[in-house]
This record gives sequence, structure tokens and C-alpha cells, in this order.
Amino acid sequence: MIDLHCHTLHSDGTDSPERLALLADEAGLAALCLTDHDTLGGIPLFLAQQPQVKARLLVGTELSCRFLGRSLHVLGLLVDPGDAQFQARLAELRTRRDDRNTRMVLRLAEVGCPVTMAEVQAQAETPLLSRVHFAMALAAKGYVRRPQEAFERLIGDDGPAFVPREELSPAEAARWIREAGGVPVVAHPGRFAGGSFRWDEAMRDLQREGIEGLEGYYGEYRAAEQRYFVGLAKRLGLVVTGGSDYHGANKPGLRLGAGRGGLKVPDGLLEALEAQQARGTWN
Ligand code: AMP
Ligand code: MN
Ligand code: MN
Ligand code: MN
Repeated sequence: MIDLHCHTLHSDGTDSPERLALLADEAGLAALCLTDHDTLGGIPLFLAQQPQVKARLLVGTELSCRFLGRSLHVLGLLVDPGDAQFQARLAELRTRRDDRNTRMVLRLAEVGCPVTMAEVQAQAETPLLSRVHFAMALAAKGYVRRPQEAFERLIGDDGPAFVPREELSPAEAARWIREAGGVPVVAHPGRFAGGSFRWDEAMRDLQREGIEGLEGYYGEYRAAEQRYFVGLAKRLGLVVTGGSDYHGANKPGLRLGAGRGGLKVPDGLLEALEAQQARGTWN
């Protein structure tokens, strides 16, 4: 069993990278890839645990793209953390995130739920601020009872106080990831644009733009979704990956490796992923 998608407190999870590495062994994983949003900040501490950990510890990140008018997440799996150009590109994404966050503070005041950036920062362990931290700050101030309610009423993708970031195109994300030696993979396609969306055509378009795989196994998929996406990848010749999207206490009940209980990502997917990485289909 492997897990190629999870987060630490360097983005919007709650575990330290060191703790996450140890959890890999507790969960009985053969490999674990850390994929924090827009940063490789947790990677050095994560990889430093390798001598203590049986599971293979792997490097990744998760980037947000604009596709068909909505947000599409792309995982950059097996990127080289020593790639200076990629690190600079991630820094640029974090600047865009900071700009969005500033606008979201203003927007929340307009809808009658003022929070300061300092109050949002107080909810985070690192400088990267995500909507998860906004949700916690809004709950701490009593505007909502639970952070989840902040997503439902205020800052979810269609909420009145949501401000989008300037996002990459999928082609740009794919190129950045490829140039950093990684494999660009669509994260949780089943969460995109609701359940009825048919992916067949759209995934073909993404493949033409440089996407090389999709997440066929996911912590929150139903069995039918897993079958559909694994089958789709096979039909299109895309790499299949899988992971829990573990966020620690920020996604209660979702476990590393096991997701909501039924997740089991086969070890063999990692070999196929590494073969794809080595192939370097374009540059
Ligand atoms: P950001 O990248 O700052 O826009 O925040 C996105 C993060 O917020 C996602 O990675 C999730 O962890 C979380 N998130 C987004 N929408 C929801 C939602 N509807 N319910 C719970 N968490 C969400
Ligand atoms: Mn997240
Ligand atoms: Mn995601
Ligand atoms: Mn994720």
C-alpha cells in the first residue's frame, strides 16, 4: 500500500513533516509522497526522517489551475526539491496567494465578518495561509460555529466572500512540473465540477496540454468513481496514482493511507509513475 497525496502544517494539514514520516510506517505504507500546496517547505524535515522510516519518502507538491472556469488541482509528483527554477516558481505562487488573502480580508469585512490577517496567521504554523486558516479564524471569532460552516456560508468556491487566486493554466503547471523532473497528475478529478461531469473529453484535452496522469484512487472516492477513473486512465494511456489527501485534524476521520476506510493504493503504481518520470515524454 502507498499514499501519494498528503499535507502537513506547511500548507493546510496539522502534522509536522517529521510526524507524517513516522505515520507512514504506522500505516504500513511502502511509500509516502508529501504534496503540500505551493510549497516544498516541509520536504527537508520530511526527508530527514528517511533513516528512521521503512517507507520510501517521496517529494511532491499540489498546484491550483484554472480549467473550464473552475479550479483544478494538479499534483507535481517526484519533483526535484533542489531545482532552483521550480522553487522560484513556487515562491511566485505564494506571492499570488498572499495577494488573494489580502483581498479576502477586505471582502470578509464587506460581508460583515471582519478578520485581520494577524488573526488568520494565528491559526497557522507557517507563513503559508490557506482558506483552512481563514475558516478557523472565522470560527474563533464566532461568525460560524465550525470551520466547515465557513466554507458552506462564506469562503467555499461559490461563497460570497471567496476571492480566487490568479491560477496557472494546466499547460503551464504541467510544464513547470516536467521541467523540475516530476510527473504532472490531475488530483481528485472526481471532485471537479460536481458528480455528473463527464471527464472523457476534458481529460483528453488535458493530456494534449501535457498532463501525464490522474488520481484514480482517492481518500474520498466511492467505489464507482475509482473504477471509472482507473478505467479512463487506462483507455487514454495515462498514469494512475492515488492517495488519501490526508490533512490531519483538518479533515477528521480521513486517515493516512486508508482514507475514509476503504482506500488501498497498490504498490505497483509507483513503478509505473517512476517509469513515466524516466520517460520524460516532452521537455
Ligand atoms: P486555498 O488554496 O487557500 O484556496 O484553500 C484551499 C483549501 O481549502 C483546500 O485544499 C482544502 O483543504 C480547503 N477547502 C476548500 N474548499 C473546501 C470545502 N468546501 N470544505 C472544506 N475544505 C475546503
Ligand atoms: Mn488542502
Ligand atoms: Mn486538492
Ligand atoms: Mn490535497
